[in-house]
Amino acid sequence: MNSEPAASADPGLFDKVVNLCKRRGFVYPSAEIYGGFRSTYDYGPLGVLLLRNVKDAWWRSMVQLRHDVVGLDAAILSPPAVWEASGHLKNFTDPLVDCRNCRERFRLDKLDDPHTCPNCGKHDTFTEARQFNLMFKTYAGPVEGKGAEVYLRPETAQGMFINFKNVLETSRKRPPFGIAQVGKSFRNEITPGNFVFRTREFEQMEMEYFVPPDEAEKWYQYWCQERLDWYRSLGMPDDRLRLRPHDADELSHYSSGTSDVEFLFPWGWDELEGIANRGDYDLTAHAKASGERLEYFDQAANERYVPHVIEPAAGATRTAMAFLMAAYDEEEVEREGTGKGESRVVLRFHPRIAPYKVAVLPLSKKVELQAPAREVLSLVQPHWMADYDETQAIGRRYRRQDELGTPLCVTVDFDTLDDRAVTVRDRDSMAQERVPIDGLVDYLRPRLDGE
Ligand code: ATP
Repeated sequence: MNSEPAASADPGLFDKVVNLCKRRGFVYPSAEIYGGFRSTYDYGPLGVLLLRNVKDAWWRSMVQLRHDVVGLDAAILSPPAVWEASGHLKNFTDPLVDCRNCRERFRLDKLDDPHTCPNCGKHDTFTEARQFNLMFKTYAGPVEGKGAEVYLRPETAQGMFINFKNVLETSRKRPPFGIAQVGKSFRNEITPGNFVFRTREFEQMEMEYFVPPDEAEKWYQYWCQERLDWYRSLGMPDDRLRLRPHDADELSHYSSGTSDVEFLFPWGWDELEGIANRGDYDLTAHAKASGERLEYFDQAANERYVPHVIEPAAGATRTAMAFLMAAYDEEEVEREGTGKGESRVVLRFHPRIAPYKVAVLPLSKKVELQAPAREVLSLVQPHWMADYDETQAIGRRYRRQDELGTPLCVTVDFDTLDDRAVTVRDRDSMAQERVPIDGLVDYLRPRLDGE
C-alpha cells in the first residue's frame, strides 16, 4: 500500500503561478493596454514555448511514435449542417441561471449549492434555468443573415468524423486506427475563469480511435491507461493525478463509458482530459445526415461495419497550466559562490516541457567572453531552444532561469579562453560540472532528450 500522504489542494499556489506567468512572460491578460478583455489571454515568449512543448509531446506520443494514428488539421469555420448532425445545435448547451438579487449569471451544474448565490450569498434568488448554446455563430461573406451562418468549432473532434472516409481512402489505415488533431476551439462559456482553466478560446488535443465494435471496451481501457501514463511520463506527480470514471448519470446518452484524467488544482480535483467510449454515434449520425456511407469493409471477414470510437480529448492550454502548477516549487538554498542563504522559486519542468532547455550565460559582459559565448549558443541552438543572457550578476541570472524552469545553464567564463570548457549547472541539484565545448552537445543530449 502507498503510505505517502495524499496531496491536498494548495489555494496559495494559484496566485503565485498567475503572478509568475505575468512577471516572466508566460501569459498576459489579452488587450491589456485597453483595460483587458475578460477571461482572454495571450501567451508570451515563455508561454508560447511551454504550450508548443505540451502539444509537441502529445503529438509525439499520439502520432509520431505510433503506426496506427495519423494527423489532421481541419477548418475552424464550419457550416451548420455539421453541428446539426453532431447534435451540437440542439444539445451543446449549459443551464444558465441569473441571480435576481445581484444580477450575476451562473452555470447551474457547476454551483456547489444550487440554492445559494456564490456572489451575494442570498438564497433561492435564481431564475429558472435556461439552456444556453455555447457555440459562437458568425457569418461567412458580406451579407449577414440566414444561409450565411457559420460556426466556430466548439471541439476539434467533428473534423475527424467528417473526414473519416477521406482518411480511410487515402491513408491505408484500417481499424483499429486513429485520427489526431491539435487546434483551437471556441465555446461561449457562461462562467469562464480560474485563469486559463476555462476560457472562451482554447486549444484542444483530440484523437478519434476507430475500432471494430467488439473491441471497443478493450481499447477504451487501453486509452484510459495510456493517457494517464502520458502525464506521469512528463513528470506530473502521482498524488496529484487520478482517473475518475463517470457515474451513470454523468454519461452522455451515447457513451457507454467515460473517464476523466483529473489534476489536483489549487481549488481541488478538476478535469484535464476526458476519455470516452462513443460507440458508433458520430459516424452513424453523419452518415445519416450526409447520405455518405461511413463504414469499413473488412475484406478478410467479408463484413461491413460502422467502427466504434474511443476518444481521448484533452485541453492543451489547461494542461500547460497544470504542468506549470505541478512544476512550481520554492526552497531555501545557498546562493552560488556567496555562502549566503536565500529562497528560490524553481519550476521543475520535465526537460521535454521546459520552455528553454538551455541558457547560455557569459560570466560577464566583457568583450573577450562574447565570441566563445556566441559560439556555444550557436552550437546548442540547432538542437534545443536556448536563452542567452549577459546582464546582472551570475547568481541572479541562475535564479531567473530557475523561475523559467530551464533545466541546464551553460556558463562561459575566463577559464574558457584557456581550456575551451564551460560550466554546466543543473537546475534541480544546482550541481556544476566542467564540460569541454567540443563535447557539449553530446553531454547535453541524454540529459535533455532522454525519456
Ligand atoms: P466542462 O464540463 O468542464 O465544460 P467538457 O467535459 O465539456 O468540459 P470536453 O468537451 O470533454 O470538456 O473537452 C475536452 C477537453 O477540452 C477538456 O477536458 C478540457 O481540458 C478542454 N476544455 C474544454 N472546455 C474548455 C475551456 N472552456 N477552456 C479550456 N479548456 C477547455
